[in-house]
Amino acid sequence: MQAPGSGINAQTGLIGVIGHPVGHSLSPLIHNAAFRHDGLDMVYLAFDVPPNLLGSAVEGIRALDMRGANVTVPHKETVLHLMDEVDTLAGRVGAVNTIVNEQGQLVGYNTDVSGFVAAVHSVLPQGARGLSCLVVGAGGAARAVVAGLFEEEAQTIVVCNRTPARARSLCEAAAAWGATSCEAIDYDHIAEAATAAHLIVNATPVGLGGAVKDSPLPVDTIHGGQAVVDLAYGACETMLVEAARGRGAVAVDGKEMLIMQAASSYGLWTGLQPPIEVMRRSIEYGER
Ligand code: NAP
Repeated sequence: MQAPGSGINAQTGLIGVIGHPVGHSLSPLIHNAAFRHDGLDMVYLAFDVPPNLLGSAVEGIRALDMRGANVTVPHKETVLHLMDEVDTLAGRVGAVNTIVNEQGQLVGYNTDVSGFVAAVHSVLPQGARGLSCLVVGAGGAARAVVAGLFEEEAQTIVVCNRTPARARSLCEAAAAWGATSCEAIDYDHIAEAATAAHLIVNATPVGLGGAVKDSPLPVDTIHGGQAVVDLAYGACETMLVEAARGRGAVAVDGKEMLIMQAASSYGLWTGLQPPIEVMRRSIEYGER
């Protein structure tokens, strides 16, 4: 076995992330650190693939006998239709973020759901079961969040989105999975919903980058006894996480979900127990 980067040879296995743009992705750091730790002769690269070349890139996974790939914005939904097989959860979410190449058969998974659930458990060891939850946002990530909360058997899920029709359509999808308590509300009612929720999830890009001190909801509605999971993250704390902790709530930013979805993908490709602490350190300290 050779360490990635130091001994790439004719046997080295390839995995990569397909996105557009993708230059900001932390996934190569995370996975290459894990391969190195586990002594796997594999390398993980980032591929910037514009939408018109997505089909060719996916065919390339098969043609080049890659072990698989991650898929990120803006391809997660489109790529689902290019799979030979789609895992039930990914089908429910309507998005694939992980492809596994099983001897030429491409199988699509969505590890954002388990990544999100793990992030919830990092602040609420008992999980979201029986809790009232507020989800801000109704895009692809919010779909994974609502699927995770449904799996967790949350008591109620309230979805609030800038474009109300998208929140309604997410709740309709959740009803089709069997969720009986998913309700869409307008932004005008976000303060009351935030005050009443046990668990608040930000699934919008507001706060992304950390340096931008902005929150998708009024932070003075947050109080002790609540939990906040922010999907956004940056070099420093997001405003939402900082404010939530300052007001006595437990809170975690999007790095935890990022690490835990990567860990699930790693397990699918390698069949190994992911070295989570190594993966976490790879982005905390920029270890390469
Ligand atoms: P998306 O499909 O483009 O959806 C974005 C959502 O955010 C939409 O509901 C949009 O509302 C809302 N939004 C955008 N700008 C807003 C603003 N200024 N104020 C209020 N709402 C706003 O994106 P996505 O894939 O769901 O991703 C959402 C965020 O989650 C991104 O920041 C992404 O980086 C993050 N994410 C993190 C992880 C992780 O592992 N930590 C995983 C997946 C995604 P409209 O419908 O009105 O446009």
